[in-house]
Amino acid sequence: MRVSEARCHYDVVVIGGGMVGASFAIELVRQLEKQASAPRSILVIESITPGDTDNQPSFDARSTALSFGSREIYESMGLWASIRETAAAIHGIQVSDQGHFGSTSISREQQGTEALGYVVENRRLGTVLQAAMDDHQALHFLAPGKVEKITPVATGMELELQYVDTTQSVTAALVVLADGGRSPICEQLGIQRKREPYCQHAIISNVAFQFPHNNIAYERFTEQGPLAILPLPDYEQLHRGSLVWTVAEGKQEELLNCDEQEFLQRLNVQFGHRLGRIEKVGQRFSYPLILTEAQEQIRPGLVLLGNVAHTLHPVAGQGLNLALRDSHTLAGLAAQAIQQHKNPGAMETLQAYLERQQADQQRVILFTDQMVNLFSTGKWSKVMARKAGLLGLELLPGLRKEFARQAMGL
Ligand SMILES: Cc1cc2nc3c(=O)[nH]c(=O)nc-3n(C[C@H](O)[C@H](O)[C@H](O)COP(=O)(O)OP(=O)(O)OC[C@H]3O[C@@H](n4cnc5c(N)ncnc54)[C@H](O)[C@@H]3O)c2cc1C
Repeated sequence: MRVSEARCHYDVVVIGGGMVGASFAIELVRQLEKQASAPRSILVIESITPGDTDNQPSFDARSTALSFGSREIYESMGLWASIRETAAAIHGIQVSDQGHFGSTSISREQQGTEALGYVVENRRLGTVLQAAMDDHQALHFLAPGKVEKITPVATGMELELQYVDTTQSVTAALVVLADGGRSPICEQLGIQRKREPYCQHAIISNVAFQFPHNNIAYERFTEQGPLAILPLPDYEQLHRGSLVWTVAEGKQEELLNCDEQEFLQRLNVQFGHRLGRIEKVGQRFSYPLILTEAQEQIRPGLVLLGNVAHTLHPVAGQGLNLALRDSHTLAGLAAQAIQQHKNPGAMETLQAYLERQQADQQRVILFTDQMVNLFSTGKWSKVMARKAGLLGLELLPGLRKEFARQAMGL
């Protein structure tokens, strides 16, 4: 769709149709559709053409552990049944520490819930979200379109965007910036982001192993960093899982480039034999790990959502889950403002959003950062703290419940 074929002014423009931008746009349009009288004009601008899986940074080869809370959000959006078809439920989490006594497990029975979470391949989540965006006529999706510049104007924000070989401009009452962790737009706007590199990389790949995973997610802490294998649905009689292996900076190249047998040999040594032998590994990818936090999340007519607002270490699988809670709150408030014929980009609305979400954001950022610090080291003092922590989780049901609630995003 060309913008010239549609409107030049939108209530809301979302920059970035990745996991967060797409989820937000779908939730907003669904809320507006419930309110028949409200005007609806939402545009999502995405720089990568749907289906271009080699270049799409959001719907890539990774898998995502969705918390129970995220399931509830997707359920309320009417998307859960489609997501569930391709997801594996997590019935238990087993946490252990390589080379040290001390492990703990958390089960769905202890928590009295159907599942602790669900693992879905990002590409499959992308297919569901894209289909849902295509389903809503009030939601205009433009791709491949790249926003080059945004400027504050009296009506909100003016966006200069590159679409095919033309430059066009649109205005919006509210711009939702969901363009991911790199975001040149943030730089252009002079929005500072605190960046703390962890000096670690995550190697990710799909792996296949001897024994069924029985829907257990394994998190193992090694001297180099945490290693997780999350359950995936079996495929062609292969028992599959999604590997997230955190290694110190500099180590990733050899693990990416060594041959399959050597990689499997090293992985089996680190992970142990809970799943029998890990026998196959798919294509390997690596991601630099960094904690970033935007110093400003809102300005008149602008809000930052997802990785551009906060990028977390994947150790606790919380990045998308947190962003979905942010997105859910923002969609509710923006829909309410539009319904009441108010400006959804007014500071009053955006301030209310931030007030509701800031405590959640800070808690998750702190929890994740502490886990990385505690679990990515062989230092004796921290190993002892870790053992005490795992033992504490094992011995104190209240503590374990709290840990599980955090992991489940409740
Ligand atoms: C290894 C790893 C494992 C993870 N596992 C989990 C997990 O288990 N659970 C969990 O909750 N989280 C997890 N996360 C975090 C999760 O992946 C992120 O929270 C999520 O990707 C953030 O999505 P996003 O849409 O904000 O950004 P992105 O995924 O980066 O998407 C940004 C989108 O914007 C588009 N774009 C960029 N610039 C422009 C522009 N100028 N104009 C138009 N479009 C543009 C891009 O093409 C892309 O589609 C993990 C992260 C990593 C690295």
